[in-house]
Amino acid sequence: MNSVLVTGGAGFLGSHLCDRLIEMGKNVICVDNFFTGNKRNIAHLIGHPRFEVIRHDIVHPIYLEVNEIYNLACPASPVAYQYNPIKTIKTSTVGMVNVLGLAKRCRAKVLHASTSEVYGDPTVHPQVEEYWGNVNPLGPRSCYDEGKRIAESLCVNYHHAHKVPIRLVRIFNTYGPRMDPNDGRVISNFINQALRGEPITIYGDGQQTRSFCYVDDLISGFLKMMEQEETTGPVNLGNPVENTMLELAEAVLEHVDSSSKLIHEPLPQDDPKQRCPDITKAKSFLKWEPQVSLKEGLGKTVEYYRQLMDQESA
Ligand code: NAD
Ligand code: UDP
Ligand code: UDP
Repeated sequence: MNSVLVTGGAGFLGSHLCDRLIEMGKNVICVDNFFTGNKRNIAHLIGHPRFEVIRHDIVHPIYLEVNEIYNLACPASPVAYQYNPIKTIKTSTVGMVNVLGLAKRCRAKVLHASTSEVYGDPTVHPQVEEYWGNVNPLGPRSCYDEGKRIAESLCVNYHHAHKVPIRLVRIFNTYGPRMDPNDGRVISNFINQALRGEPITIYGDGQQTRSFCYVDDLISGFLKMMEQEETTGPVNLGNPVENTMLELAEAVLEHVDSSSKLIHEPLPQDDPKQRCPDITKAKSFLKWEPQVSLKEGLGKTVEYYRQLMDQESA
């Protein structure tokens, strides 16, 4: 019986992945320490005969029998990963070693969730996988960026030394239902500010760019990457449509009838000025490209946060 481990399975991306794997008929073990994850993300799966959840921190060893591992455990929002930077580093290093040790023992395939942050504040645009990046190794984002770079190196070296089958995906900004409304990321901030009629906080002049991928598209990319045998990656997964933060604020306000005004706040240190994936490799190896437009995806995300607010105020 095919057993799949999802670390970070109670988080935003992990919980959507668990849903899709269950739909596909797999046995799913979700491992999470609930640092940024939430029980409400997986509440509907509890009691399903093919779903199991274990509260566990991957910084400590774990012994399970599985065929495939999706390693998503790691806080993803800058506010969350800078809360305890040393813990963030341990998760991407010691935690990654434990995941790879488990994969080696079980002969399991590992898909690791890397990030566009390995490119830092990029000087090559759009970013291709061959670009080595422009990361400040000492800055406030380094606990995340450098941790993820070590995690990639660990994967590649376990592959070479122990023949662990690996799949590396570099994820660009992804959004959708179940993003923690308080995690400080731009889409959750803007939508929740608009819904509450609070000022929309634009950091800096708002001309910095990001490329936003809807969660369902991203998860399809994960599944295709795991299935194919042509490449270990890294493969960029993201939406190549690039927007400034000012454009994003306007797009959010088109969905929410709101009295919110835009205000400017200081730009955080080392905030990348631009980010956009080159997805040539994903198109050729995975036959994958995003299908959901920002307009459609924002609509679904706004709906989710509206329902969450209604539940909380009930
Ligand atoms: P998230 O914070 O919602 O999910 C991360 C999950 O990992 C949470 O449930 C958290 O409790 C769990 N976790 C953290 N540290 C752990 C540990 N030591 N042991 C066990 N569980 C732990 O974030 P997300 O957006 O779902 O991101 C999932 C993965 O994708 C992360 O690895 C992140 O770096 C990567 N990623 C996400 C994005 C994005 O835009 N969402 C972009 C690039 C990379
Ligand atoms: N490990 C684990 N689960 C397993 C196998 C290994 O958590 O099923 C951990 C184990 O604690 C070890 C790490 O993964 O420290 C790396 O394992 P590996 O076999 O590569 O190294 P070694 O055991 O030789 O240190
Ligand atoms: N940002 C913003 N207002 C906010 C939150 C974020 O203008 O309330 C900006 C932030 O400075 C960055 C972009 O939006 O330029 C994306 O930030 P996020 O934290 O979502 O992701 P990351 O910086 O990791 O791409």
